[in-house]
Amino acid sequence: MKAVRIHQFGGPEVLQYEDIPDPELRKDQVLVRVKACALNHLDLWVRKGLPGVKLPHILGSDIAGEIAAVGEYLSGFQMGQRVLIAPMHFCGRCVKCVAGLQNQCREFTVIGNAVDGGNCELIAVPAANVIPIPGSLDFNQAASVPLVFLTAWHMLVALASVRPGQTVLVLGASSGVGIAAIQIAKLFHCRVITTAGNEEKLEKARALGADYGIDHYKQKISEEVRRITNKEGVDIVVEHVGAATWDESVRSLKSGGTLVTCGATTGPNVAIDLRHLFARQLRLQGSYMGTMGDLLEALSHVFAGRMKPVVDRTFPLSELRAAHEYLEKSQMFGKVVVNP
Ligand SMILES: [Zn+2]
Repeated sequence: MKAVRIHQFGGPEVLQYEDIPDPELRKDQVLVRVKACALNHLDLWVRKGLPGVKLPHILGSDIAGEIAAVGEYLSGFQMGQRVLIAPMHFCGRCVKCVAGLQNQCREFTVIGNAVDGGNCELIAVPAANVIPIPGSLDFNQAASVPLVFLTAWHMLVALASVRPGQTVLVLGASSGVGIAAIQIAKLFHCRVITTAGNEEKLEKARALGADYGIDHYKQKISEEVRRITNKEGVDIVVEHVGAATWDESVRSLKSGGTLVTCGATTGPNVAIDLRHLFARQLRLQGSYMGTMGDLLEALSHVFAGRMKPVVDRTFPLSELRAAHEYLEKSQMFGKVVVNP
C-alpha cells in the first residue's frame, strides 16, 4: 500500500510518500480502507519528535473509511461499511479501562502517536475502535470529528461539568477544539465568548453559535470578558493555546470558575499567582483526550446533526508535506484532511 512515513524526526521534509507492505489483519481486528485522515497539531509534535514513537512511523489520528476485511473472531461488521475509527489505543483490561476511563490506562496513546496512524491506505484496528457513520457525513467530515469533539466533550462535560446558562470562554475559535467547544457549549444553552486572530474567523465562529467574538491581536481578552460579563467573569475557560493566553484566561474566570486545558500550542511554561488561585477559589483542570463513553456521546449529537464538523481544506495523501506546512501557518478555520 501507499503510506507516508517518517524515518527521522524533523520538519515537513521528513514525510516520505512510499510503498510499504499491507498491514496483517489479526483475527480480532477490522481492516479499514482509509478514505480520509484529518490532521491535528499532535501530528506536528510527533513529526518533530516525541518519546515513545518508534521509527519508521505513520502519523495521523482521525480516520474515516470503509471496512475492507473483518477478522474471523468478529461479527456484526459488513464489508464496505462506512466507519470512523476511535482515535485511541488502550488495553481494555486494566482497572481504568474496565471503569471506562480509557484515557487513564497505562497503555493509553493516541492513534498516530505511539502506534501507527492513518496516513496510509489500509489500517488494522480492534473492533472496539470501529464506529459506523451515517450517510449524512462524507468521509472528510467524518474524519474531522473524533479527536477534537472527543477532547472538547471531555473538557466541558466530563471535567468542567458544564451546566445550562453558564458563560464559557473558548480560546482559538478557528481550531478544531475551538469549533467543537463552541458547539458543545451552545448545545448546553451557554453564553459563548470566543477569540480569533481576525474578523473573518470571528464571523465564522458566530455562525457556529458563538455569542461574542474577541480579536486577540487587537483586544485584551480579559478586559473584553469583563465588559461582556458586567465584570463578573466566565464560569469555564476552554484553554489549549498555552503560554500566549494563559494569564488572560486565568484573569477571565469568575470566582469559583474552572479553567480546563488540553494543550499548549504556543508554549508549555506559564506562571500561576497562588493568591489568585486560592482567594478566588479557581479550579485548574488538565485534560487529555477522553473516554470511549465521551466519544460515543459526542458522536450521537454529531450524527443527529446537532453539531457539525468543519472541513477547511483537503490535500491528496501524496502532498502531506504541503498539508503540514499549511497547518503550521494556522490560516485555516476547521480541519485539514488528506485523502489517500
Ligand atoms: Zn487499560
